[in-house]
Amino acid sequence: MVILSTIAAISTPNASGGIAVIRISGDNAIEVAEKIFRPLSRKSVADMDGYTCAYGIAHDGDERIDDCILTVFRAPHSYTGENVAELSCHGGLYVSRRILRAALKNGAVNAEAGEFTKRAFLNGKLDLTQAEAVMDIISAKSERELRMAESLREGAAFRKAEKCSAALMKILGDLAAWADYPDEDIPEVSTENLISELTDVRGELFSLVEHYDSGRLLREGVATAIVGRPNVGKSTLFNCLSGCERSIVTEIAGTTRDVVEESVRLGDITLRLADTAGIHDTDDMIEGIGIDIAEKLVDSSELIIAVFDGGCPLTEDDQYLINKINKKKCIAVINKSDVEQKLDVTEISKSIQHIVYISAKENNGIDDLHKAVEELFRLDPDAFSSVCAANERQKQCIDSALRCTDEALSELQNGQMLDAVNVIIDEAEQYLLQLTGKKVTDAVVDEVFSRFCVGK
Ligand code: GDP
Ligand code: MG
Repeated sequence: MVILSTIAAISTPNASGGIAVIRISGDNAIEVAEKIFRPLSRKSVADMDGYTCAYGIAHDGDERIDDCILTVFRAPHSYTGENVAELSCHGGLYVSRRILRAALKNGAVNAEAGEFTKRAFLNGKLDLTQAEAVMDIISAKSERELRMAESLREGAAFRKAEKCSAALMKILGDLAAWADYPDEDIPEVSTENLISELTDVRGELFSLVEHYDSGRLLREGVATAIVGRPNVGKSTLFNCLSGCERSIVTEIAGTTRDVVEESVRLGDITLRLADTAGIHDTDDMIEGIGIDIAEKLVDSSELIIAVFDGGCPLTEDDQYLINKINKKKCIAVINKSDVEQKLDVTEISKSIQHIVYISAKENNGIDDLHKAVEELFRLDPDAFSSVCAANERQKQCIDSALRCTDEALSELQNGQMLDAVNVIIDEAEQYLLQLTGKKVTDAVVDEVFSRFCVGK
């Protein structure tokens, strides 16, 4: 067994606040705490029970640092499953760093990003989906996101995956029995039974990914690029949607060169809006770089808001854009509805289904734009309540398991030999073990926890 070092980190944000917490975890956590903390009562830190606190002073050697509350957790009854000591001090950056330094001098080492939660996972306190949910709870921005993350943290997805995994294990067991005793009549291994059991598993797995896209949109928002040739009013629209003067607007073509980004909430949907440089031919090198970025953003965005000037006939640059965004989710915004209209939208409507007329300058027609967004990204109401894969990693594991069950089902229906089916079901089972982290490579585990912050 690997002996893990005792780790320490400041678990509160890297800023001043009411209190700061220095967390220490590992076999020697309580010994480290004892060296840097002197309780005011006579009782020694070593004698403290789990789930108890003491008031006292943190020290670095003989030097007093600050008043503190020490909370002790004893293995396995702690977040990490190890001995844990948490020192709560005044929330100054300097104070908390000094206490951390004292802990490091006395036997602890710096914790890596997510290492406390990683240890909770390694000690069987959480499965991998629950550990990932901890990060989602931290980054939740709304009640709904929080509820979704909480249900995952409570193990809802894990239990579903476990149930599927157990069902597959049972099938594998039956198949093994059948392979060992082919002459005996083992009732569970009739093709009919197998198909029915696998179909149930398939249904459960599908329910875990069914609402994934809606859930993801809800969490991450829709990557949206506002594009168009220069001077059509992209930046004015961007400012109008974001409710502030973020992007510079002038009548000079080529004003916007950098990508300016802002998150905008439209009802339930968040758009991660990017204002871009006008796409056209230019000799200006800097503007040219901006245009390249804009073109790349067209490729990587999920929603394109293509802006046209209603006051001018269609130009070659407009046509270039129409061709470029072909096949993407797109809304054509015909801007400047406040001036005399000279644009013929025939060409636009051939390629883009949603067309709205607005005046970004006068803030007219923005509601129609909202409606078009809602139509394109209709959020499934079940997405909010259902148990669902929370990220790409989970989704891929479930999709792969689903693919295998589908394959096994079709093989069975085609009358394939049961031992061929056995191999495919075993593969499905492997994907579910990866999902929950029961059988997963170190690289995957490291990847998951690298997205955490230090101290969590
Ligand atoms: P961009 O180059 O596409 O980002 O365009 P801007 O937002 O910088 O706007 C270019 C010019 O068009 C500015 O002078 C704006 O005031 C003007 N403009 C933008 N939207 C409207 C609109 O709805 N109506 C009118 N009349 N002018 C507008
Ligand atoms: Mg602009």
